[in-house]
Amino acid sequence: MKKSLRILLASPRGFCAGVARAIEIVDKALERFGPPIYVHHEIVHNPHILDDFRARGVIFVDHPDEVPTGGRMIVSAHGAPPATFERSRTRGLRLVDATCPLVTKVHREVSHYVRRGRRVILIGHRGHAEVIGTSGHAGEEFDLVETAEDARTLPIRPGVDYAYATQTTLSVEDTADVVGVLRERIPEIAEPLRSDICYATTNRQAAVRTIAPRCDGMVIVGGSNSSNSRRLVDAARAAGCPRTWFVSRGADAPLAEFDALKTLGISSGASTPERLVDELVDALERRFAVDVETVSVTTEEEQYKLPSLSALHG
Ligand code: SF4
Repeated sequence: MKKSLRILLASPRGFCAGVARAIEIVDKALERFGPPIYVHHEIVHNPHILDDFRARGVIFVDHPDEVPTGGRMIVSAHGAPPATFERSRTRGLRLVDATCPLVTKVHREVSHYVRRGRRVILIGHRGHAEVIGTSGHAGEEFDLVETAEDARTLPIRPGVDYAYATQTTLSVEDTADVVGVLRERIPEIAEPLRSDICYATTNRQAAVRTIAPRCDGMVIVGGSNSSNSRRLVDAARAAGCPRTWFVSRGADAPLAEFDALKTLGISSGASTPERLVDELVDALERRFAVDVETVSVTTEEEQYKLPSLSALHG
């Protein structure tokens, strides 16, 4: 007889509006123009999506110079610095921007601060594609802090007006700590009217925090370089579920380790296709007598308009 296992599915989970839009842009570009379509950086941080696109003729590049003159290039959902767009134009590339509108919002804020003569403190992960893109709007000099400790030790320049902005996919709680330190050290610091951490990141973390106390194990499905997926692991552990596994797809889950569990939580990052969660649930159903409950903390209705693809013509 199969052992019983209760599964709590966190909701919302999986694709956000920005990821769905970026994928649709590449899909439509392939349909309309055929391969090759070049994409600056990984369109979204999920290896399975990238493999599917590679098989259909998408070539991922790190720099516009890797694209032949006149080639068709799409900028990923994470955005890119202005220099990438300038270089692409100089090289005569046909360009469409799939930057998530919520990342673009942060770019605009940062540019606004710089125009007002403020020095920007960017809260985010060094080397992450979104941070590289946003820092390109932050003027000649800016500061990057990753942790509350960084914020505590950041040299503050007298007579300088500061502002801060954050990566969209950070831990809500850790970022609140970093911002708390900055506000204490720089009481006049300018800040976004609404948090830069996006709705999708916030909702997915809230859903994981809600189910974590009811679970004795949790699986987060996501790409290894997906910031928002990684933060779900942190959220689960911080909310009381220390046995949290991070897997790229259901087939990678250590099913034998779940034999000791009564209740397993499942969630997935904003760039994770739902089929990878389905694959995990199917594998669990083969091994256990499962009882699945979806726990929803909110519903999401965000949808972002696709840009015109006319710039790819010709
Ligand atoms: S995680 Fe947030 S910022 Fe990133 S693509 Fe999705 S909605 Fe946009």
